[in-house]
Amino acid sequence: MECKKEENMEWCNCSYPCSKKGVCCDCIKYHRERGELPGCYFDDKTEKTYDRSIENFIRLRK
Ligand code: SF4
Repeated sequence: MECKKEENMEWCNCSYPCSKKGVCCDCIKYHRERGELPGCYFDDKTEKTYDRSIENFIRLRK
């Protein structure tokens, strides 16, 4: 299977300068290990706070 980085970059909303941008498998692994979610789980405004915690995600959904 080919990496879909270029395709993923078309919708990735992460504004943090990061080498994992568009490489969703690495991105989710990184945040999962920290009890977090990738930036694409958050709206653009909240994403820019860089608070990727699950608590923040739940707070936004209430
Ligand atoms: S969501 Fe996290 S791991 Fe993914 S590109 Fe952004 S900063 Fe990097």
